[in-house]
Amino acid sequence: MAIIGIDLGTTNSLACVFQDGYTVLIPNSFGKMLTPSVVSVAEDGSIYVGAVAKERMVTHPGATAASFKRYMGTNRIFELSGRRFTPQELSSFVLRQLREDAERFLGEEVREAVISVPAYFNNNQRYATKEAGELAGLKVERLINEPSAAALTASRLGGKEEGSFLVFDFGGGTLDVSVVDYFDNVIEIIAVSGDNHLGGDDFDEKIARYFCEQCRMSYSDLALEEKASLLQHAEKCKRELSSLKEVTYTFELHGERKVTVDNARLARLGQDLFDRAAQVITGALSDSGRRMEDVDEIILVGGSSKMPVVGFFLLTAFGREAHTAASPDEIVAMGAGIYAGIKERKEELRDLVLTDTCPFTLGINVVNPADHQNPIMSPIIERNSILPSSKKGYYTNIRDYQEEMEIKIYQGEGYYCRENICLGEIRLDIAKKKKGENRIEVCFTYDINGILLAEVSDLDRKIRKQAVLSSGQFRLSEEELKRRVEELKDFKLAPPGGIRTKLALARGERLFVQMTGERRRAVEMVMGNLHAAMGTQNDQTIANCLKEAEAVFDFLEGKERRE
Ligand code: AMP
Repeated sequence: MAIIGIDLGTTNSLACVFQDGYTVLIPNSFGKMLTPSVVSVAEDGSIYVGAVAKERMVTHPGATAASFKRYMGTNRIFELSGRRFTPQELSSFVLRQLREDAERFLGEEVREAVISVPAYFNNNQRYATKEAGELAGLKVERLINEPSAAALTASRLGGKEEGSFLVFDFGGGTLDVSVVDYFDNVIEIIAVSGDNHLGGDDFDEKIARYFCEQCRMSYSDLALEEKASLLQHAEKCKRELSSLKEVTYTFELHGERKVTVDNARLARLGQDLFDRAAQVITGALSDSGRRMEDVDEIILVGGSSKMPVVGFFLLTAFGREAHTAASPDEIVAMGAGIYAGIKERKEELRDLVLTDTCPFTLGINVVNPADHQNPIMSPIIERNSILPSSKKGYYTNIRDYQEEMEIKIYQGEGYYCRENICLGEIRLDIAKKKKGENRIEVCFTYDINGILLAEVSDLDRKIRKQAVLSSGQFRLSEEELKRRVEELKDFKLAPPGGIRTKLALARGERLFVQMTGERRRAVEMVMGNLHAAMGTQNDQTIANCLKEAEAVFDFLEGKERRE
C-alpha cells in the first residue's frame, strides 16, 4: 500500500508519490496536477471538490467554500446549503478526493499520507490537519513543514549543491520564510517565520478594489456574488501580469468595464503587503542569526511567487535575485512525496536525514508579581529548537505551605500567557514548604510529529505527573471522531464519470452569470446544445458537443481577457 505526500494548500492541493527513485505527481480526473481546494455541495447532496466546485463559487456562493485552510484549528463553522461543516471536515473532502484520484492512478489502496503544513501552523492547526486526514480515511503519522518539503525537493533536484537557502514560500493565503541549511545530506531548518494571513488572495483583493476604484464603485457595497466574480477576474488579471507587462482587462460589473493594470501599478498596490513580507524575511534571518549575505540562494515557492513583482521586491528590498526552483506550485508536494518515500524506507532515500524545527515556543505560566490575574509565560522549548527536543525548567512555590501547583502549558511568543494558546494543564500535589523552598521540575519533550509530552515532578517528594498534550481545544474525542467519520460517509464525492461535462455545465452557468448581451446569448446557446446532447445519451454526440462547448467558452474567456 503506497503512502502519498499531499500539499494541502489554501488555494490548490496536490498529491505525489515516490516511485522508482522519482517523485511522481498524481493527476486528478481532468489530468491536472492541481486540484483547487474548493468544496461545493450539489443540489443532490453530493460533494464537488476542485474545478467544478471552483466554478460554482460564482453561481452557488452559499453552497461553496474556499480558503478554509485559513481557519483550520478554529471553531469557525461553514454553512453550505444549510449543512454545517468545520474547516477540517471541508479539508477532509479535499483529501478524500486526492486519495480517490491517487487510488485510481496507482491502482491500489491508499490509507496513509504525509501532509504538508505551513511552518507557522500552531498545534491546533496541526491537529486539525491530522484530523482532516483521519476523517478522509487516511492515517497521518507525519506532517511536514512546507518549507522543509520545498528544501527537500530543491536539494534533490540539485539546483544548488550545498549551502544555506532562504525558502520564500508565497501561496494563496500564507507566506512562510525559512532559513534552511543543506550540508552532508542533512537538511536542517534553522529558522522559520511566517504570516498566516498574507498571500495571493490579498493581491486579488487589491486588484479587485482597484477595479472598483477605476469604475467609481465601492468594493464593500458589492453583493456576495459580485465580489466573488470580481475576485475571479482580478485573479485572472494578476496571472496575466506574470507573463505580460501590462494588461487591459475587460469584465462585467453593472455593464462592461475596461481597466488597464501594469506590474508597476501592482507593485504599488501591494506595497503594504510587501512591507509585511519584508518583516517576515527579516524575522527569519534574525532568528537564524544570519544576514542576507550569508544566504547562498533564495528559492521561490508557491503560486504567488510567479508574480514578477515578487522578484522585483526581493531585488529592491534586499538586493538579491531569487532563483525560481522548477515548478513553484509543485515543489512542496514533491517534498511531501519524498518524505513519504523516506517513511516507506525506500532504498534510494536511505542516506537522507531530515531534521526539523519547532516553529513556536512552548512554556508554562509563572506568577506576575505586579498583577496576579495576568500570569507571564516562562519559555521552556524555544521556537526554532531542533526536533525532537527535550528541555527542563525549574520552578518553586509562591506561597508558604502551598499544597498544590497548577501548571498551565502554553504555546506562543507573547510575554503574557493570555496572548498565547493554552494547550492544557497539570495539577501537582507538592510538599508543604515555605515560599521558594519547593523544587519543581518541568520537562517538555516535543517530538517530530508535534506531540508534546509534559512531565512535572516535585523533586523532594519524587512525585511525577505526565500529560501528553495535543492541544485539545477544538479536538474531537475518539467517539466523536468515529461518529463524524460515519456521518461524513453519507456525503458522497461526485463520481468521476462525466466530470468533464459537469465542469462545462458549471462553467457555462458561471459565464451566464458573468456575461451580458451577445456573449451571454452564446453561452445560452452552447448550454442548450449541451443539454440536448446529454438527452441523447450518446457518448459520441456528448463528446463532440463538449469539445465545441469548451472551445466556445475558452474563446469567450480568452476574448474577455485580451481585448
Ligand atoms: P498556492 O497556494 O501555492 O497554490 O498558490 C496559489 C496562489 O498563487 C493563488 O493566489 C494564485 O492566484 C497564485 N498564482 C498561481 N499562478 C499564478 C501566476 N501565474 N501568476 C500569479 N499568481 C499566481
